[in-house]
Amino acid sequence: MSDKRVVVVTGASRGIGRAIAVQMAAPETHVIVNYNSSPEAANETTALVRARGGAATAMAFDVADPGAVKAAFDQIVKTHGRVDVLVNNAGIARDNLLAIMKPAEWDDVMATNLKGAFLCSQAVVRPMMRQRFGRIINVTSVVAATGNPGQCNYSAAKAGIIGLTKSLAREIVSRKITVNAVAPGYIETDMTAALPPKAREALLAQIPAGRAGAPEEVAAAVSFLASDVAGYITGQVIHVNGGMFMA
Ligand code: NAP
Repeated sequence: MSDKRVVVVTGASRGIGRAIAVQMAAPETHVIVNYNSSPEAANETTALVRARGGAATAMAFDVADPGAVKAAFDQIVKTHGRVDVLVNNAGIARDNLLAIMKPAEWDDVMATNLKGAFLCSQAVVRPMMRQRFGRIINVTSVVAATGNPGQCNYSAAKAGIIGLTKSLAREIVSRKITVNAVAPGYIETDMTAALPPKAREALLAQIPAGRAGAPEEVAAAVSFLASDVAGYITGQVIHVNGGMFMA
């Protein structure tokens, strides 16, 4: 059994997931850096974790593939004997207006963003119950609360994440496992880099802070929820959005 705290961050090759993995780095943690299609970027993340004194392993698996998720978490538990923190961060967007949205655009977003969180959470629940300790943190989005034209699939998946968070929190809080969500607003990553300048301006106009957020600002909320001092917080959604939406 590892004497380190084992932290799994899905979609940690880039963006918010990378910032979370790096902030979790510490001599007493081993960070599993999951990715799907970017091995080089994932290796950059593991190098950043190690540079901060943490242990890290890059691990490829598609969070939407039940067999791949089971095999990955079986291997993690076999190797380390435990899993302490799961951050369900992997996500994709396939934006389109509902009237012309293809079923595949709906299905792909649901599979990665919602089913992926279900599968990974299911894979860690038993080891965490045995340990009588665990932290599950799900990355949702401000659009789960506000809606957004062109994102019926994405906002439905992210709203589903909030329901999953609250129900699972109630199922396992007695085992000292907390389940929370973090809802980023507009954060500068590859996901938002493709926004046309007009859409970017319109988004910025909705943010009282007057700027986009940085991945590290989302990671700070995730790190807090993963910490020992957050043990009495469960079933909550923490918004990190510069005032764009206030719950
Ligand atoms: P990003 O830069 O596009 O990075 C997405 C990450 O998810 C990558 O590491 C990617 O891995 C991974 N990924 C995608 N599909 C996967 C799969 N099937 N299995 C495993 N990993 C997969 O996105 P981001 O902006 O950092 O977003 C991270 C999370 O925050 C997402 O859940 C997103 O919905 C949410 N979010 C973002 C914003 C924002 O403004 N950026 C706002 C609200 C919520 P590969 O590189 O290997 O493909």
